[in-house]
Amino acid sequence: MSNNSLPPPQSDQPFFEISALEAGFMTFRTDIFLEPQPPSLSPSWEGPSLCFLLRHSATGEYILFDSGFRKSMDQYPPVAQALIQKFFAPVRVSHDAADRVAEGGLSPSNVSKVIISHAHFDHIGNSSRFPAATYIVGKGTHDLAASGYPTNPDSPYGQDTLPTGRTRVLDPSDASLSWTQIGPFEHALDLLGDGSAYIIDSPGHLPGHINLLVRTSTDGAWAHFAADSVHDWSLFHGTSVFAAHPDVGCVHLDKESAVRQVAKLRELAKVPRVRILLAHDVPLWKKARENDWDGFWPKKIPSL
Ligand SMILES: [Zn+2]
Repeated sequence: MSNNSLPPPQSDQPFFEISALEAGFMTFRTDIFLEPQPPSLSPSWEGPSLCFLLRHSATGEYILFDSGFRKSMDQYPPVAQALIQKFFAPVRVSHDAADRVAEGGLSPSNVSKVIISHAHFDHIGNSSRFPAATYIVGKGTHDLAASGYPTNPDSPYGQDTLPTGRTRVLDPSDASLSWTQIGPFEHALDLLGDGSAYIIDSPGHLPGHINLLVRTSTDGAWAHFAADSVHDWSLFHGTSVFAAHPDVGCVHLDKESAVRQVAKLRELAKVPRVRILLAHDVPLWKKARENDWDGFWPKKIPSL
C-alpha cells in the first residue's frame, strides 16, 4: 500500500460518528509556539482543549479521544500548577469532558474506552470521571505517569493520571502487537480488529504521543485526530514553524520527530476524504460557536 492510500473498506464496514467536546481553555503564547510570529496574530490567543466522542456504527460503543482539563488546578501536581500559571494562564474550565458527555445526554459510565494522546495536563482529564472506561495510552505516557508525582515531587505528571487495573499500554516496539503501516504512518494498530479505528504512533511532542485515525463512513471517508502533533494550522500549512523559546525551548521534546510527523500529516491530507482535527483547533471551535455548536456533542461532525 502506498503512502498515499488507506485500506479500502470491507463489506458492511463499521465506522464512527464523531462529535467534538470542549473541556477547558488555555492561553497560547505565540512566542512559545510559532516562529515567525504571524503579524495577524496577537502575542497570545485563547484556544480550547478539545476532546472527541466517537460512536461505533455497529456496536454503539462510545470511545473518547482525549479528556481535556481537570476542573480545578489544585488537582494537578504542584510543578504542573506552576507551569500552567507561568506559561499558559489564564486557564478557564467551566466543564470537564465528563460534564460535556453528560450535558449531551450520555452517562460518562457508558464510555467504554478513553484514549489519551499524551500526558500533558490539558489532555488527561480525570479518570475517576469515566469509571467504566479502559484507558489506552502509548508507553511513554504510562512511563511518565508511573514515575511521576508524588513519588517524584519535581514531576509535572501525576501518578493518578491513569486508572489502576483498567489501563492498556501500547508500546510501538512490542512485536507481539500487530503494528502495521497505514498510509504515511509506520506504526498503526487496528484498535477493534474491524478496520474502523487505528491508533497511530505519533512521536515528537512528548514520549508516548499517539493520534487516532477512524473511518467516518462505510465507503472510504476518514477522520484523523492529530492531538498536539500540530498546535496551530499555520504549522500544518507551513506559514510558521515550531518556535524555540529561550526559556521554554521547543514545546516538542523531540523536534526532529515532530517535524517528520507534520510532514506525514501533510501526506495524509492528500488522501481524498480525510478530515484532520487538532486538539486546539481554534477554527473548528469558532465556526461551531457561530453555527449553533454544530459538530459539538450531541451534534455530529459530518463525514466528508
Ligand atoms: Zn501537549
